[in-house]
Amino acid sequence: MICGIDVGSTTCKYVLASSEGEIIDQAYERHNTKQVEKVLEFLTRLEQQHGLTPERDRVFFTGSGSGLIAKLVGGKVVQEVVAVAAAVEKLHPDVQFVSEIGGEDMKTIFFTGSNGTKNKQVLMQSACSGGTGTFIEKTARKLQIPPEQLSQMTYEGRTLHKISSKCGIFAEADANTLLKAGVSIEEIIASLFEAVVYQNLATLTKGNTPLPEVLLLGGPNLFFRGLQEAWRHHLSKLWQERKVALPAGKDPAELIQVPTNALYYAALGCIEAGRGEPERVGRYAGTERLKWWIEEGQHEEKQKEGKRGLWREPEELHAFKAIYGRPNGRTHSEPAVNVELTQVVVGCDFGSTTAKAVCLSPQKELVFSCYALSKGNPIEDARALFRQIRQALGSSGQILSLGITGYGKDLLKGIVGADCAVVETVAHATAGLHFFPDADCICDVGGVDVKIMILNNGTVADFRLNSQCSSGNGAFLQGVAERFNIELGEIADRAFAAQAIPQLSMGCGVFLQSDIVNQQRKGWQAEEILAGLCAILPLNVWIYAGGLNNLSQIGKKFILQGGSHKNLAVVKAQVDFIKSKIPDAEVVVHPYSGEAGAIGAALVALDWWQRGGQTGFRGFQVIEELSYETTTSLDTVCKWCPVSCQRTFIDVRLPGGKGRPWSKVPLAEGWERVIVNNSCPKGLVEDANEMRVIKAEMEKTKHAFPNIADMVRAQAFHRFAG
Ligand code: SF4
Repeated sequence: MICGIDVGSTTCKYVLASSEGEIIDQAYERHNTKQVEKVLEFLTRLEQQHGLTPERDRVFFTGSGSGLIAKLVGGKVVQEVVAVAAAVEKLHPDVQFVSEIGGEDMKTIFFTGSNGTKNKQVLMQSACSGGTGTFIEKTARKLQIPPEQLSQMTYEGRTLHKISSKCGIFAEADANTLLKAGVSIEEIIASLFEAVVYQNLATLTKGNTPLPEVLLLGGPNLFFRGLQEAWRHHLSKLWQERKVALPAGKDPAELIQVPTNALYYAALGCIEAGRGEPERVGRYAGTERLKWWIEEGQHEEKQKEGKRGLWREPEELHAFKAIYGRPNGRTHSEPAVNVELTQVVVGCDFGSTTAKAVCLSPQKELVFSCYALSKGNPIEDARALFRQIRQALGSSGQILSLGITGYGKDLLKGIVGADCAVVETVAHATAGLHFFPDADCICDVGGVDVKIMILNNGTVADFRLNSQCSSGNGAFLQGVAERFNIELGEIADRAFAAQAIPQLSMGCGVFLQSDIVNQQRKGWQAEEILAGLCAILPLNVWIYAGGLNNLSQIGKKFILQGGSHKNLAVVKAQVDFIKSKIPDAEVVVHPYSGEAGAIGAALVALDWWQRGGQTGFRGFQVIEELSYETTTSLDTVCKWCPVSCQRTFIDVRLPGGKGRPWSKVPLAEGWERVIVNNSCPKGLVEDANEMRVIKAEMEKTKHAFPNIADMVRAQAFHRFAG
């Protein structure tokens, strides 16, 4: 028998065939980063069920994890593209272009020439997740779309939105922004499919035209109906534009095939390649050495390469936990429970992963806090928060003022009647300084942003903000944990369990991602990689994202806040890093590290109320009953500049809403419109019609309030007669 095993970045597949090439069995399974263990399971199964026999049968491996495993079981490695091409040439002699999309890589193969003398041109990408299956799945998970639903989601006829196709991490952020703007998940997923096809065509064809027939391979191409539709749409269009002659009477869509066994082509190709090799090549040596590697070998190798874990001695970890791990040890604090919630000031922080709200008493005590996992729609998030606040306040409670911050603030200010929309850095600095007025630096590591605020006598003297790169943020750590099926709350304990950690490189999250895959191949386990990520986080935060090489210039008292600092392993790495630079530094974690933004917004709103402000909060019932509609169409495209942003109009039914009868997307009285997805403030003005309305309003105001300065200037040296 001859066996082909494809050890991919997310799954392993095998095909077992007779020596004549007749298929006996095939299977694919996710390996959850345990590639070696999964292959051992496969081989044991094949020995037991099909009599795969050492020294008689042959095994050929391909895929990113094949090198190490093949050596251990006596198999031979077949280069991935060679394997796929071998299967395609055998099964589809007419195919001229192949796209294979894997979990973390993608490749295209152009076949030119006639049968006997076919040439192959291969283009691959594996350094970035853009355009691969992982970023579709990752985003779908974020949008809480179950895999069965994702596989059936369509592309044809959907309105498409701009999603970064170059970087998987940015694509996820784009998808998140669209969701927050009220774009439907169907449109977001269709836009992701568009981005995948665009990325494949833009980076992997290098100007060559993929000619029919086309074969789509790999899990994403097989499983996602919408992705197949996107390919058919783009290739048909391309053929039309480039006047490609198609076989008479054929619908272009028919010339793009997705075989039902599209997952197995690399494994099938291994068998084809293996059959062409001499009998002695690829002789299966059994699983003994594989077992040895799992039990001993990998640990020996790791010890040579790795460095110590997040702690040296158990006493050191105990001492750290004694300071930072206690409920009052600055990692978590409960709001006061014995204070009657009568009059409160509310602060809300609409973050990328969670929305948080706090209630402060007029004496600035935190009396209530709550959160909701972000559904990506700020109106829904606000509803979830205000429901909890309403319940906590009861019928006698009163909101004195409302401050909001975070991504949703501009959208929500008018809708919920917030009194202050507070810029994130201001909210976080206010919250930090409230508890630690003598702080020299506040470091806020949230889901997406890293903010470093350098303080001087209680005011922000300098700040560093990083929201364009995922390196060092909490979402990246969380994303990796999710891939390992580790809950957010478990990350710290798992990371502390690591005795040694791999050396990961500081910098771009995309490269860090491939670094992780490399470390996994060497046998590093989930907890060790998570510990490694926690250890690298301070470098990414302070040096890579913050550009602060000399921490000692900042001062001595550092406040850590933001949701990522709820993770004790991250705090340990941060404390060790800061103290390695400034041995006598004082590092404290904000008592409400996750709620700091909401607290800051509430403090600003409290100040506003104390200066005589009268709240415009619309009330719980209005928020509960908010109904809204979203429109993204040709009529919502911004025409103020050639960028032509595809904006979304979110129309909310609100008592007293003025409507927009003059709009191209008319809005009746009793509704208000919020415009999102504009790249600059100009895009907040709908179109020339609205500009006329605004100008008319400005003229009216000018008449009602003449500019005194202009009048004085005009009259100052005027000589009056007499
Ligand atoms: S929102 Fe700004 S950048 Fe976008 S099209 Fe309008 S004017 Fe141009």
